[in-house]
Amino acid sequence: ADPTRLRQVLINLLSNAIKYNHSGGSVVIQTRSEGDEVVVTVRDSGRGLRPDQIANLFEPFNRFGADLDGIQGTGIGLTIVKAIVDGMRGRIEVESQPGRGASFAVTLPRAQIGAGRAGVVPATSTTAVDAAAFDTAWVASLGSGLILYVEDNPVNVLLVDELLKAVGGVQLIAEGSGQGGVERARECRPDLILVDLQLPDFDGFEVLHRLRADAATASIPCIALSANAMPEDVERGLAAGFVDYWTKPIDFAAFIAAMHRRFPAAGAAAPLTRRPAPAGRAP
Ligand code: MN
Repeated sequence: ADPTRLRQVLINLLSNAIKYNHSGGSVVIQTRSEGDEVVVTVRDSGRGLRPDQIANLFEPFNRFGADLDGIQGTGIGLTIVKAIVDGMRGRIEVESQPGRGASFAVTLPRAQIGAGRAGVVPATSTTAVDAAAFDTAWVASLGSGLILYVEDNPVNVLLVDELLKAVGGVQLIAEGSGQGGVERARECRPDLILVDLQLPDFDGFEVLHRLRADAATASIPCIALSANAMPEDVERGLAAGFVDYWTKPIDFAAFIAAMHRRFPAAGAAAPLTRRPAPAGRAP
């Protein structure tokens, strides 16, 4: 596996196993080989899960009332964990019964380690373990950059923030109104602005219009985000000058892939530089 991503997955599962446990409880990690696969299991002695909870476990923001118990968390960890494991061509499965703890099994394809290697892979290298087996978007970190997200729904902000944190590299700032977004953009000069089209004060088209009217923000690429997914909506967004138009709910894999195109890691490609006043769509 990619070492960084596998570590993220295990940290998430282990912290859940501890958080949802009880005083004096236990957490057991086991690994085993199964044919061409390796299985890592994290088992806890916590409260366990009902079948209906298991069914929705990897859906974002599904915390099953844990908020009421004062347990902190965003409820998105397992969603990200699943995306990362899927990205490494693996799978994650859970077994649990109420009151009898839970067991999370992460199954990954066994790496094809080149002849002559002792089986030790440098922590910074994925090439030695058949990088082609991974969805590289989930493996590589993004290049550095600043993204402004103008969005009035805090759940969407949280989701994008967690997604970007999972990959690492760029920094996210957010504003909940059109006016706030325009002002923040002028102040911070982000490399990219994500604009929700439905905002409480004025819409995303007006945000774009105001950004374009100010020399300080005129050339910052803007991507529209909207629940409206009709072709004419998309067309209208692109015609207005958005470099891209993404529909909600956000497709994790497409989002991460797009971020890699805009923020390539140092050394992977030329770093993102702000283009002088693009007339239309960026590539
Ligand atoms: Mn909105």
